[in-house]
Amino acid sequence: MVLDAFSVRVALGVVTVTLLLLFCASFHRTRSPYAGWWSLALLEFMVGNAAFLLNGTPHQLWANPLGNVLVVAGAFSVWAGAKTLRNRKAAPWQLALGPAVTAVASFLENPGNNVWSGGLVYLAMMTLGIALAAYDLWFIKSSHSQVHKALSVAAGMLAVYYLCRWVVYALEGPASYTFRTYFGPGPSALISMVLLVTVSFSMTALTSDQLIKGLRERATRDHLTGLLNRGAFLDLATTELERLQSTGSGASVVLADLDHFKAVNDEHGHGAGDVALRAFAEACAGSVRSTDLIGRYGGEEFVLFLPGATQDRAENIASEISRRMAAMQTPEGVVFPTVSYGVTSSIPAVADLNFMIEVADAALYSAKAQGRNRIVGADRLEAATIADEARS
Ligand code: GH3
Ligand code: MG
Ligand code: MG
Repeated sequence: MVLDAFSVRVALGVVTVTLLLLFCASFHRTRSPYAGWWSLALLEFMVGNAAFLLNGTPHQLWANPLGNVLVVAGAFSVWAGAKTLRNRKAAPWQLALGPAVTAVASFLENPGNNVWSGGLVYLAMMTLGIALAAYDLWFIKSSHSQVHKALSVAAGMLAVYYLCRWVVYALEGPASYTFRTYFGPGPSALISMVLLVTVSFSMTALTSDQLIKGLRERATRDHLTGLLNRGAFLDLATTELERLQSTGSGASVVLADLDHFKAVNDEHGHGAGDVALRAFAEACAGSVRSTDLIGRYGGEEFVLFLPGATQDRAENIASEISRRMAAMQTPEGVVFPTVSYGVTSSIPAVADLNFMIEVADAALYSAKAQGRNRIVGADRLEAATIADEARS
């Protein structure tokens, strides 16, 4: 028995429209990029499949290639959506290439009389688009949901199905019994329908994953510089210091404050001040290792936590930051401020982050008092005295 392709396609159309309406509403509410791409994919599948309904009419000449192109574009939109879940973006040419090749192939094989015009390329591109989506879905990093793995397997199986369609099409042709029974438009529309519903149901989990990630990013990052905000820095550095203590390693803390920063704002405007803050953040990021933590501690004050770094190494990093900052291009007429630093390294007996920051702050205060634009290190023995003085 061969499934009636027309009826299955009408059913697929109805399911797609329903899902599309539901997910447009979800995208409107959440603005999750994944929901956006999935809505676009549904729209492409829906219009593409509607175009196939014109097969057998005089419109087939344009409707059939259009259907091929839109359905392939839908597969690549699913891929683009999967990439957003990995914080990656598909380049426009990567999304356009598959549909473009399909368009050319579909117009070349007499689409007016041949419903399978461009079929080989269409099936190859569908296999590619769905396989790419399966690949990206698999590698999503998520600590609280594994739904993407199940989706990846489902997409992988669909890619294999399309690969089989492609092989049977190439070996036996679309008119063969095997192709029509297992790989023709009827069975494949049925499989697509099951998959659309499955993926759509998993959407809620994936969309909320994406929203949680975005919120977490906003809650831990300083908006202007992209560095950790004070709270996130303190949390992460405390945990890291505890971990280091248990392994007997040390760490250093650097507190930095831009010199006479208020003058930059007063003379060149707040915008120029912001540029200087971003430049300093960039200089920091360029001077430390990926395991180091950088936070914006307050207005024009920054803090660095350097696991495993000795006092000397921390002081070298501070001078490297100033060197980079001085070498940076400034807006017309603006001179970036110099920077004062207070540096301290952990004392195994009192490896307490608040204490280290207090000591670094006292050293910073001393750097300011000595005339600014310098690095003052509080060595281990001095640290306790400096902290005491700072407290009194
Ligand atoms: P010192 O050398 O003693 O540190 O002097 P200073 O001028 O750097 O210090 P002060 O504390 O007097 O001024 C800090 C200024 O930083 C005041 C505040 O308006 C400015 N500021 C704080 N946050 C921002 C910001 O996000 N953008 C800009 N442009 N300015 C900021
Ligand atoms: Mg300052
Ligand atoms: Mg300050």
